[in-house]
Amino acid sequence: MKTTPHILVTGGTGYIGSHTVVELLIENYEVTIVDNLSRSNANVLDSITAITGKTPNFVQLDLCNADAVTTFFNAYSTPFDAIIHFAAYKAVGESVQEPLLYYHNNVVSMINLLQAANTNGCNKIVFSSSCTVYGQSASLPVTELTPRLTAESPYGNTKQICEDILRDTVNATNIQCISLRYFNPIGAHSSALMGELPLGVPNNLVPFITQTAIGKRASLSIFGNDYNTIDGTCVRDYIHVMDLAQAHIKAVEVLLATNQAHHYDIINIGTGVGSSVLQAVNAFEKAANLKLNYSYSPRRSGDVEAMYANVDKAKAVLNFSSQYSLEDALLHQWQWEQALQRNG
Ligand code: UDP
Repeated sequence: MKTTPHILVTGGTGYIGSHTVVELLIENYEVTIVDNLSRSNANVLDSITAITGKTPNFVQLDLCNADAVTTFFNAYSTPFDAIIHFAAYKAVGESVQEPLLYYHNNVVSMINLLQAANTNGCNKIVFSSSCTVYGQSASLPVTELTPRLTAESPYGNTKQICEDILRDTVNATNIQCISLRYFNPIGAHSSALMGELPLGVPNNLVPFITQTAIGKRASLSIFGNDYNTIDGTCVRDYIHVMDLAQAHIKAVEVLLATNQAHHYDIINIGTGVGSSVLQAVNAFEKAANLKLNYSYSPRRSGDVEAMYANVDKAKAVLNFSSQYSLEDALLHQWQWEQALQRNG
């Protein structure tokens, strides 16, 4: 009797992917990672092994190469029990500069994956979506029924398009899918052996904070202090990456337990709590016990004023709720930044 589900993790050497692989291995799943390593580093496999004592299978593969994807799937006589599909580009600003790169990479790769999965009897998929699909919603917190707005960036549009492709594919095939709409992932593994590796100057708030604190950047610019929020700075729902990893495990469990045809679901994954940029900076100062250099700058174009999740559905359907506090997440990301500096 087969006892260990085999999970294919695309983009498994990336930020959220690698933390999810750690949780899968700890929970005794068999894991195969495919990744083209275009935006990540194979060294993360050593970190995964150092944390878990286990080594996932790894295949370097570009999902945009349909023939290679077919060959990869054909090499397995038993289909994967589920796929978690992380592989995608995610830099909002870059997507504005290079829309075709983003549409090609994020959409074509998923089409190739779905075609091969469907042909090979691999029917269960968890997809990485994003709260960016909501745009600036008129009412907060957003529920899964809150209408999506026109995407602010090609990146955001790829998430909307991929959600739609999945919905239609689930309608027409045996594939079942849960799309997880993540809010703002932050933090690192508590061992400080694994975390995000931003390429170049970080666009996201928390890596910019930790790089400023360590001295790589002179000062944090807080983009806008005239928003209609508690202190004038934007509000986001920051969720620890290990909580996010757990949400994926729960989604896989739900899919493995369901035999319902045409099962497609969308679930918000956040903490349910909005924090302003200034509150995040203050929480960081407290967690790291230091003062951060920062000043106010004009608003950043494309930023929404406030965004946080209604998390009732995650609790009801996945039995998931976040465990880590904002300070835990900031402390872990700070410890990761310090480890990066120690290791050169
Ligand atoms: N932010 C900031 N300074 C930075 C980077 C981000 O003030 O150097 C703000 C940004 O304007 C937003 C919040 O921090 O209000 C979160 O930004 P991030 O890029 O991390 O996430 P997203 O905008 O995608 O929610």
